[in-house]
Amino acid sequence: MRVKLLAAFLAAAFPALAAAAWQLVASEQGKRVEIDRASIAIEAGGVSTARGRVVLDKPIVDAKTSASYRIIEMSNRFNCAERTLSTLKRSYFKEEGELLRQEEVKAPFDMPVRSGTPDDNLFREVCRPKSKGEAAAAASKTAERVGEVAGELRKLNEAMIEKEVKKDLQRSSAHGAPAPAPAARTAAATHDVKPAPARRKTHRGAEPGAGHAASAHAHAQIHWSYEGEGGPQNWGRLSTEYAACASGKRQSPIDIRDGIGVDLEPIQFAYRAANFRVLDNGHTIQVALAGGSISLLGKTYQLLQFHFHRPSEEQVNGKSFDMVAHMVHKADDGKLAVVAVLLEKGGEHPLIQTVWNNLPLEKNDEVIPPSLTLDPGQLLPDSRSYYTYMGSLTTPPCSEGVLWLVLKKPQQISPEQLAVFARLYKNNARPPQPAFDRLIKESR
Ligand SMILES: [Zn+2]
Repeated sequence: MRVKLLAAFLAAAFPALAAAAWQLVASEQGKRVEIDRASIAIEAGGVSTARGRVVLDKPIVDAKTSASYRIIEMSNRFNCAERTLSTLKRSYFKEEGELLRQEEVKAPFDMPVRSGTPDDNLFREVCRPKSKGEAAAAASKTAERVGEVAGELRKLNEAMIEKEVKKDLQRSSAHGAPAPAPAARTAAATHDVKPAPARRKTHRGAEPGAGHAASAHAHAQIHWSYEGEGGPQNWGRLSTEYAACASGKRQSPIDIRDGIGVDLEPIQFAYRAANFRVLDNGHTIQVALAGGSISLLGKTYQLLQFHFHRPSEEQVNGKSFDMVAHMVHKADDGKLAVVAVLLEKGGEHPLIQTVWNNLPLEKNDEVIPPSLTLDPGQLLPDSRSYYTYMGSLTTPPCSEGVLWLVLKKPQQISPEQLAVFARLYKNNARPPQPAFDRLIKESR
């Protein structure tokens, strides 16, 4: 209630704030899910209400009016303790501000919120403790409730964090990759499908009442990964340093389409053979080497490392490739440029074979072949035409301001070589992020 009053006060005091401030909480192919944080109102009994919406890339036809709509706004009620969500009202908009129709839900139904869904992201925004103090209070309450068991778990957790922090310190700042969104959940997000009662039971059975406050608290202690709690949907919430992963408007990867075909300045590659180290950093296989530089628009970027994702993170007109190699470069002013080489099934790739021949036996370990060198130029296709856009690191902290140079012509990698990587990393690709209004250029 306090929050509701505050929001009303702010809206009156600062009219600009009265307009919904939509914030992205999840994006999947074809749509994004947003919340109006100013609308979050805490009611009695662990219940909160908030407005959320699904924004589709392309309009769809409304069966009731035969007109089309692109935005579905929902007034939702969240039961934070029960982990359920019910939609009270839906508004369909043709476009921003162009209401098509509204409907009240006659018999709101409490749907269980499943982990990893856009609903889950909305739920976390609405139900998470509002301050560090509240989080601590909520966590300690839970700890009291479950007594010694919780204490043991906390200790284990602390030990785990300590270990992760140590690992992080040891690691060189690896630029990694992300995971595919679990299959489309539009239906769940818009609540068009009424779940069978049995599902609710199953859900409760699977997640006995530890309470959401505790799980939100535990969230901060999870290391990022490509699936489950630490997966791409949650990166932005794992650490304040990862906020850009959720709120950034220039995130990578993207589905590359609608580029403008122009005469792009050729990338000047000045690569050379060099000694190398092969590191398995727990997110990918990464090869570090002082292998020369690239120059573009009067700026020189030194090659630091290259690493791999499976499948390719970048899509071209909706299509992803078997794998991709990301060659990460840094200029003297700290700016990053990443050259992406798409890899598709075909013949054996000699450079990749050299890397695979020197894979570390264990994660967080590295191999430094004493007398071998690699020429990074061997990774490049003969044609150097490319797509370019401004984006981000594709792994936490998802920092923006990264110049992406995606070579159009894929290189080949053999089925056996693909299988080797798949044994280590079955999927280490962040799903495509919304392009928003970014300009994409391509060599014509
Ligand atoms: Zn990468």
